[in-house]
Amino acid sequence: MKLYALAFGAHPDDVEMSCGGTLSMLYRHGKPFGIVDFTRGEMGTRGNAAIRANETKEAAKLLGADVRLNLGVSDSNIELNRKNLLKVVEVIRKYQPEIVFAPYREERHPDHIHAHQLVNDAFFYSGLKKLKTGKLAAYRPRRAFYYMQHRSFIPTMYVDISNDFDTKVAAIKAHKSQFFNPSSKDPETMLSTPEFMEYLLGRMRYHGRMAGVRYAEPFWTHEAVTITNFDAII
Ligand SMILES: [Zn+2]
Repeated sequence: MKLYALAFGAHPDDVEMSCGGTLSMLYRHGKPFGIVDFTRGEMGTRGNAAIRANETKEAAKLLGADVRLNLGVSDSNIELNRKNLLKVVEVIRKYQPEIVFAPYREERHPDHIHAHQLVNDAFFYSGLKKLKTGKLAAYRPRRAFYYMQHRSFIPTMYVDISNDFDTKVAAIKAHKSQFFNPSSKDPETMLSTPEFMEYLLGRMRYHGRMAGVRYAEPFWTHEAVTITNFDAII
């Protein structure tokens, strides 16, 4: 199955928080996409692997993902090794996405940094014909877009998610064990405070302001995004 886009995340709710609006927009425009989680988030303070697997499935359905895969890497232990690199190369070759999304290179959680590095490297290596991965042919996507998580950067592209804001928020909240829930008995984390959701929504609004729209998601790319027609400008 060929997909238009693959979005990689270190943990099951990363993609929803960082580029969920963009993925919802792709779905509305008939562009098939998949979400690839490196880990099951089993080291998280709240929830467990089974609870998180159900929440992850629900969130993928809300966003309209065609597939949601898990690379089965241990949470808090995404190692930069050949085995993990080839896992990413294989999934890129199998689904042949035009574009990939991944975490930005500077992050608070080391898993995010390592996921960035593995996707960044696999983006290149997947195009090498002499690098064999079974029957999967060499394939290199057109572009990689790196999304914002904890650390900020100066974006080289914004996506207007004003029409996808509600879907994005619903997909984030599908991860019920992770976010604010007054009846939960799990210990509080940074993500589970009411202030965190307020911050997340405020940041989408802030980037919307920077982009001249209501809500936006910021991305960084190695090459600046270029237009061929001024009508493309919002
Ligand atoms: Zn994460």
